[in-house]
Amino acid sequence: MTTPLTVFYSDDFIVENPPLETLEKPRLVADRILSDRAGTVLLVAPTPATRDELLRIHEAEWVDAIATGEPSDIANEVFSWSPSYATSVFASTGAVRDAVSHALAHGAAGALSAGLHHARAELGAGYCTFNGLALGALAAIDAGAATVGILDVDAHNGGGTFSILGSNPQVRFADVSVNSYDRWSPTADRHHRVTVDSADEYLEAVEEALAHLEGVDLVIHNAGMDPHEGCGTGGKHGINNAVLAEREALVAQWLQRTGTPAAFALAGGYRGSGLDLDGIVDLHMLTVDAFAGLGR
Ligand SMILES: [Zn+2]
Repeated sequence: MTTPLTVFYSDDFIVENPPLETLEKPRLVADRILSDRAGTVLLVAPTPATRDELLRIHEAEWVDAIATGEPSDIANEVFSWSPSYATSVFASTGAVRDAVSHALAHGAAGALSAGLHHARAELGAGYCTFNGLALGALAAIDAGAATVGILDVDAHNGGGTFSILGSNPQVRFADVSVNSYDRWSPTADRHHRVTVDSADEYLEAVEEALAHLEGVDLVIHNAGMDPHEGCGTGGKHGINNAVLAEREALVAQWLQRTGTPAAFALAGGYRGSGLDLDGIVDLHMLTVDAFAGLGR
């Protein structure tokens, strides 16, 4: 009997009348875990990110606008501001930090957090408010990791994370996108970024990205499911459930083979002509199930 996988989530993630899947789907993934994975996955409420923590990666004007709703032109930059939106993003950002800490101690963990990798120091962008990936990487370094790898396989590029941590010599980037949004240009050997043009090249690109992370002390896996061909924002023809299942298996096998601790975040995954909310949950469960075999 293996130890259950710890996944950080609370209902604080969810807002009333959600404007986007980012603020809606975590509860559906949590519901699926509670109904179908009791015993193999344990849901734990995170400690919300604090202002002081967020000031390590964001400017005070942005953090305070989200905390208070003022000034409203800034607070409404990513989503229409509400108190529950503020509660949601502080909680889901803290969940990544908690997942990282848990993974360093126990090998693996997850956070049902989305809307992270486009957020910049001064402002959120592209449905992303606070950059939990950057916060998680700094938390891992605080905890003694010499190097942290950020594996970003969301359909879009993680230009926000790069803008915050690209100059940090302890952070290695491996970014595989299928879309040009938020592209960034590598400036050092530790930076790897590729945009895949055809589904045929996708899994090989993921393997190359993993190889680039060989030797890091922790991986943060931004496990976006928006490359799925049915997804309305980012979808790439030919990337289907089977391909994404293979992707998650590749990641898990690599983590197991290299003995690298890892924490995942949900990242992108949106409704489209060929994908409904239930289908999005199915896809995110591929990550949950792949990680469920990794803990100790
Ligand atoms: Zn995306």
